[in-house]
Amino acid sequence: MEPINAEKALYIKLMNMLSFIDYWEDESLLQYAVTLIPVDELRVKATLKYSSIPESDSIDIDDLLLLELLEWFKGSFFKWMDAPKCGSCGVVTVSKGFIPPTDEEARWDASRVEHFTCPTCEKSYRFPRFNHPRKLLQTRRGRCGEWANCFTLLCVALGYDARFVLDWTDHVWTEVYSRSGKRWLHCDPCENVCDKPLMYEVGWKKELRYIIAVSKYEIQDVTWRYTADFEETLRRRKVCREEFLLHCILTIQEKLQKSLSTPQLKALLERRARELAEFFSPAKPESEGYSGRTSGSMSWRLARGETASCSPQNSYVFRLNTDEITKKHFHVKYSCALDKYVRVSSQSIQSEDWKSFTFSHKNIFRKVENDWKVSYLAHRDGFSNGSITWKFDFRDTNLVVNILKLNLLSRTFNSGNVKWLLFPNSEDDKSLRYSPEDVCPLETADLKGSTSLVLTAELTGGDSWQHAQIFRQSLDSTVFPFEVEIHFEEKVPSS
Ligand SMILES: [Zn+2]
Repeated sequence: MEPINAEKALYIKLMNMLSFIDYWEDESLLQYAVTLIPVDELRVKATLKYSSIPESDSIDIDDLLLLELLEWFKGSFFKWMDAPKCGSCGVVTVSKGFIPPTDEEARWDASRVEHFTCPTCEKSYRFPRFNHPRKLLQTRRGRCGEWANCFTLLCVALGYDARFVLDWTDHVWTEVYSRSGKRWLHCDPCENVCDKPLMYEVGWKKELRYIIAVSKYEIQDVTWRYTADFEETLRRRKVCREEFLLHCILTIQEKLQKSLSTPQLKALLERRARELAEFFSPAKPESEGYSGRTSGSMSWRLARGETASCSPQNSYVFRLNTDEITKKHFHVKYSCALDKYVRVSSQSIQSEDWKSFTFSHKNIFRKVENDWKVSYLAHRDGFSNGSITWKFDFRDTNLVVNILKLNLLSRTFNSGNVKWLLFPNSEDDKSLRYSPEDVCPLETADLKGSTSLVLTAELTGGDSWQHAQIFRQSLDSTVFPFEVEIHFEEKVPSS
């Protein structure tokens, strides 16, 4: 099968992952790695824990040793690397981008070197991003790439079947095969977390697409272990044709398994069959319990948008087009039945789905009840709340809000609650709170003079996610349960 456009890059990315295999087959490197691990100490700890847990056939001493290894690796062995501090002034240096590696750095597979300078004395600092684990075993610092690379090697060195896992949304980690559990365990060395595969999607709010794992003998698309929403994830996979990815995986796999004996191949096939069966039943977020990322400084986490509480996931902002400016009129509406927005200007822009015109959304999904033929937005199962925000900004025009009309349909059951919040940028900047009855519909001049608006729905309470709904409507309904309409007037020049 011939690759088309972006598929070539994907194939190269997959092939590059195979470079780790050379390290895992380097016996002298593995032996050296083992000498750095306090194996006896970790094994004693694991044994003590093993004797204190109820007997189980799905967890054994090797699993517990793995937990000790994770703990030791993050706690005592490897260090996180942000911008270095200046050796003379003690202040944090500033990133100046990348510079080429020296011959010595290139010898340890550092293809990129980050460059920092001190803001006080202008002294330069380099942070080579080494890929060779023999070097990393000495430097013992880096970001997730170095952490996962080195940790995977240590697992292989201790005799585990381990995989290096690459997530296209910029993170890497390790998977380790549990012989007792007969399944692959997710291990994130940066976080000292084991077996919480939904932490990225649920805890970090990552919008996952492709997650590929490579071991000595296998390459596998493991995306499905890390998402609870197959449909949404599949929709985001636009880089290549699914059949092309499968073709790549099978082709590479064949190469990796070329030298294996029939019993070895049979064992791998059995493992793979079990893994695929596991992918058929997605994990439930509530069974795991999540927190945001813990590695790295707060600024690093914020920079990557990985704090769970404040992640604008879409950042769409409505701005006026020329037609709307001429008519001094803006009108957008959304149909939950069609899952489409309609912008009622001459362009009549239609969107892909409910998310596409939101500024942010947290724990919200669109539910379609095919048996009752209704659809609505609600917060995700396993969460006590959800929120959705739209943003409107007219500051690049000479218009200000005159009359605002809202039609925002909500429906609650039992103790479920929906609260609508409106934040105008008027003089006093106070937010307005509306109960569901108020905005269905609402016509007001209260926001006269505003040049931007932020509208948020907060869905809370109820003993079930279904108890707070917005935009509920029958699938054959032609009405719009979300409408924002604004009549503008010219800005009065300040005297
Ligand atoms: Zn300095």
